[in-house]
Amino acid sequence: MSQRPNLSHGRGYLAIPGPSIMPDAVLQAMHRPAPNIYEGEMVDMMPGIFDGLKRVARTEHYAAVYIGNGHAAWEAALSNVIAPGERVLVPATGRFGHGFGEMATGIGADVKLIDFGKSSPMDLDVIAAALAEDKSHKIKAVLAVHVDTSTSVLNDIKGVRDVLDAAGHPALLMVDCIASLGCDRFEMDAWGVDVMVTGCQKGLMVPPGCSFVFFNQRAQAVREAMPRVSVYWDWTPRSTGTELWQYFNGTAPTHHMYGLRVALGMIHDEGIEQVWARHTVLARAIWAACDAWGAGGDLRMNIADPANRSTAVTSLRLKGNDGTRLRNWVEQELGLTLGIGLGMAEVGDPARDAFFRLGHMGHVNGQMIMGLLGGMQAGMSALGIAHGRGALDAAADVIAGDGLSAPLVDKVDDVVNSPTCCGNSN
Ligand SMILES: *Cc1c(COP(=O)(O)O)cnc(C)c1O
Repeated sequence: MSQRPNLSHGRGYLAIPGPSIMPDAVLQAMHRPAPNIYEGEMVDMMPGIFDGLKRVARTEHYAAVYIGNGHAAWEAALSNVIAPGERVLVPATGRFGHGFGEMATGIGADVKLIDFGKSSPMDLDVIAAALAEDKSHKIKAVLAVHVDTSTSVLNDIKGVRDVLDAAGHPALLMVDCIASLGCDRFEMDAWGVDVMVTGCQKGLMVPPGCSFVFFNQRAQAVREAMPRVSVYWDWTPRSTGTELWQYFNGTAPTHHMYGLRVALGMIHDEGIEQVWARHTVLARAIWAACDAWGAGGDLRMNIADPANRSTAVTSLRLKGNDGTRLRNWVEQELGLTLGIGLGMAEVGDPARDAFFRLGHMGHVNGQMIMGLLGGMQAGMSALGIAHGRGALDAAADVIAGDGLSAPLVDKVDDVVNSPTCCGNSN
């Protein structure tokens, strides 16, 4: 039998949960000579960029831009409202929840961690109990993650606000939307979020290097009462300054702003509701394929209940080292890169090689997702990884239908009881 040629020549596809796929129009906008940073277009376009950012975040309040990644936005946000010794509540649902908490520890906060494990959303009753216990209102902020990119869990942020209000607790609600913004529905003002952080390299479709902190008047009042805030992290001049350098505390990230301007324009031309709906349909196609594969093999989605799944990222597990084998195969043979498992098993633990993730955030469309799924299925076939049949049909059916009205069911029981389960008919 002749050997199949390598099929990776062609345009690569990075299907990891950030950096995401960048539109060519964004890259083209960045390919230009350096602009004048004192006057002209660069200065004039900033109000439109702030406006576009706030519209994606669904807030009418303040936005600050940082030259940095998501970790920088964590530190920036915390530095404006949390002083050393002050208490924060961290309901963690994955690696990034812990990371947000570790950043708070790093600036001297007294972190009260509630660990909800690696495959469940926050339990609002547990958060309510922690708030009820805090009679003297020592907790100054709740640090929540909307979508934890390691587990791909989607948390109920409005629910956290409701719990705070029901308890009459004044803590700020601070939310990490680094994975979710521009993918999963998020309503900063309507959900009563006081501070939100995000990065530019996921749903916002810009190369890594900028991050954003959004905040409301309540958060600003807390900021004003702070004994000291580092000059560099201070969000005040960044959000209300009048000169370009003030927005960045120094030279502007000129080319990032050109890229971001185009990316925001694309999001708003499509319409934010439409962007969320697109991510929902594409995610449902992925889930339908995973359900079908899982019915005849070991593939499982980390989050069992579809209601708790992000539409930006899907965390998956196979068995043994099949996650790593599959990633390596599709990258080498097809030019398709899947995400590593993150935070599901310790570094050095062989169990890590069972896990992997799919990024489907930002500039992704129907044919890309069908290509991603087809590539995964080819990899499983080539490697002899058992999988159920009909996955690509199931995904295509989601895309062929309206993609939104099909009922979402928790398929875990069905999978176990299925006649095709566990290699029975494969
Ligand atoms: C990516 C991500 C981060 C970290 O962002 P960096 O840009 O890598 O620093 C934090 N939180 C969540 C939810 C993320 O998805």
